[in-house]
Parts: sequence; C-alpha cells; structure tokens
Amino acid sequence: KAHIKAIDQLNNRINAYITVTADAATQQAKEADKKLAAGNAPALTGIPLAIKDLFCTKGVKTTAASRILENFVPPYESTVTANLLRDGAVFLGKVNLDEFAMGSGNLNSAFGAVENPWKRKGEDTFLVPGGSSGGSAAAVAAQMAMGATGTDTGGSIRQPAAYCGITGIKPTYGRCSRWGIIAYASSLDQAGPMGKSVEDCAIMLQSMAGFDPKDSTSVDKEVPDYRAACNRSLKGMKVGIPMEYRAPGLSPEIEAVWQQGINWLKEAGCEIVDVSLPHTKYGLATYYIIAPAEASSNLARYDGVRYGRRVVGNSLDELYANTRGEGFGDEVKRRILMGTYVLSAGYYDAYYLRAQKVRKLIYQDFTNVFDKVDVLLTPTAPTAAFAKGENQEDPVQMYLNDIFTVPASMAGVPGLALPAGLSSQGLPLGLQLLGRPFGEETLFAVGS
Ligand code: GLN
Repeated sequence: KAHIKAIDQLNNRINAYITVTADAATQQAKEADKKLAAGNAPALTGIPLAIKDLFCTKGVKTTAASRILENFVPPYESTVTANLLRDGAVFLGKVNLDEFAMGSGNLNSAFGAVENPWKRKGEDTFLVPGGSSGGSAAAVAAQMAMGATGTDTGGSIRQPAAYCGITGIKPTYGRCSRWGIIAYASSLDQAGPMGKSVEDCAIMLQSMAGFDPKDSTSVDKEVPDYRAACNRSLKGMKVGIPMEYRAPGLSPEIEAVWQQGINWLKEAGCEIVDVSLPHTKYGLATYYIIAPAEASSNLARYDGVRYGRRVVGNSLDELYANTRGEGFGDEVKRRILMGTYVLSAGYYDAYYLRAQKVRKLIYQDFTNVFDKVDVLLTPTAPTAAFAKGENQEDPVQMYLNDIFTVPASMAGVPGLALPAGLSSQGLPLGLQLLGRPFGEETLFAVGS
C-alpha cells in the first residue's frame, strides 16, 4: 500500500512507471499474507518489485519503451520474472527505460524521460536517472518499489544505480536466462537486480539466476548462497586497481570516492594491487560496433507483419518502411543504420570481425588480471547524474558515459555498482566491483 501510494504521489513527476498493476499487486499481496501466515514462505514473499518494461510479463503490456510495441501484450512470462513470482514477489508494474535499452540517460523513451529523484543542492534542475534502466533506478530511489529488475548490455544496471544512489549487479553472462527479455545485443544482454542494499540484490539474484533450457547461453551451474556470501571476511583478499580507469575527464570528486573505497578495503584487511587492463581503451569503440550490429539483426523482427504496430502502405516494402519509420525512435534508427553498415559486405571484416578480435583481447586482459587479484575496484561512471539537455546534441558524448561499464560487458564478467559517497552538489557517486566469471559471491562479500 505504501509503495502504491508513493507511485500515486510521485509518478506524474518522476515518470518511472509506464504501467502500474496496482490491482494485481494487491491480489498477489493478499496471497503473500496467507503464505506468510502459514509459515515456510519463500524469501521474496510479499516483496513489492518494479519490472523493467523489457521483460515479457504474461497478460501485462510490455513496450520496451517503443512506439512499435506500444500495445504489445505478451502471451508468456520471461523466465526471470517467472522465477521471482515463484518465490513470492509482488509486481507493482512495468518501469520506463531507453527505447530497446539503447541509451544512458533514459531520454530515448517513447513514453517520456524519467526524472532522477535526486536534486543538486539548492537547484531544481531536471537530472537524468541514467539509463537504460532509469525507471528501475528512480523507482527504487524514490521508494516507489523495494527493488527492481534491470538489464545491462553495456552498463544499463550499473550506471543508473550510480546516478540514483542505489545498488545493482550485472551478473556473469549466462547466469540469468534471457528467455522472454526483449533482445538488444544478445551476446551482451544480462538481467540483474537493483535494490537498496547489497544484501537485497543478493536475495533477488538468488531467485532470478539459474539454468534455463529455453536459453542455450544460460549456464548449468549451481547458484550459490549469495546472501551468506554477504557476511564473508575479506582478510587477505587481493583487490586490483586498474590504472587505465584513471581516464581523462574523470571528475576529481569521483577520484576521491575511489580513494575512499581503497581505504575502506585496506581497513577490512584487503591487499591493494595496481594492475593493468591494456585494451580498456578499445572498449567503447568495439562495443559501439558489436552492440548495434546485433541490435540491427534482433530488431529486424519488428516488421509490422507478425506483431506490434502496423502502418499499412501500397506494397509490402512500404508496409515495412512505414511501420519501422513510425515505430522506432531516432536513437534506435541510428543503431540500426550503424549495425547494418558494419555488417554489410565489404565492411564486415574491417569493422565487425575486427571488433570481435579486440573483444577477445579485452576478455584476455581480465583473465590475466584475475590470476593476480580476486576483484577489481573502479568508479562506475565518470561523473554524477547530468542534467537533461547536457550531453544530448552529440550522441558520441553520450556513448562516452559508458567508458567504465562497457569492458566488463565485453568480457562477460560480473559487475556490482554501489553508492559510495556524495558530490559537493549532494549527488550520489558510485563505485564498481568487477569479478571473475561466476564470482558474484566475491562481489557481494566485498560490496557488503
Ligand atoms: N548505454 C549503452 C547503450 O546505449 C548501454 C545500454 C545497456 O546496457 N542496455 O548501448
């Protein structure tokens, strides 16, 4: 009731929710009460969550924040949301994002921008919540949900978590099933939890993760006890500080928070080691080839024939063109153009194939470094939340925001983003922990 009231009061301004399912949530909550009274209820019984509108939810509109799916009601439930329902969670509704998860500020939504609940001291400027899981992060930060699901392709869980002062984890690629999540870039997409604390995220991931025969890239590996991992001692643990992340443009305030994080870990008994990930500098360039390439292929299915919006024309080609012309926003069209270009005959070797080779080098950087250290500590984003309007004219400026989150996505390794301090303007600043493949437990331990 408290969360539904918060949604009623705040959603007009914050615009986190695209669809509110208050009646269904009330019904689920009543059932949860019964289960709790009977005892032995699963961990998430009665916990109210917000679901990114990229997860298909049976009988509930799922838009990907796109006009092309404005009225799409899936006949099935994604595996991750089905797992959460199995464990008793209550869904408050579907939350806003950048269209098809393409963006870093939640400014590319067909349902309007999301406002960050945080303000600069003494100012009323509209700040972005980050993206693409901006609705998820804002909903948790504004008490409009206790936790949320997100997806992360190049930083979409971690960067909005940093901008809104909450915690989020992008698990190892393959840890959660992608089945029923609307695809952006299939070799990078991962679902993960966003919440108020590391422990909340551990409890949620416990439920979301696991092998799914319906996703051939999900991994058949036991899901460890993440909540127990939150209480592990850090004595003797080796923490790497990658020098390439001291990038130009890093705000001095973020550098100070990073140093603070190093000090905390020293006090907890960790050994701090300087390390190098030499191919970091190619991360963004290769990501913005591979992600659009896969997106252009994934988005070919929205043709106005099978489902979603249809805008007729005088021929089949015209139907395609009209549907896609009206249905997709500018950023999505830009990605389709980039993606089809780098995949086209004559350019494939020069761009796409080369990017895949560099991706392997980025992966090897991580493999080498994790021979020496258990975990890496870096900032999550180069700045605090920026204002709507800043960064917006030049798409490349927006892409630069992903500089610290993209390498882990390229390598498929897990990344936990958590709040670590405030800027002089009073905005949250985040730190990121990166771990070995399937080393989420270590991230929960160090993050706690
Ligand atoms: N900002 C990045 C992009 O636009 C990452 C988005 C994501 O992780 N979904 O592609």
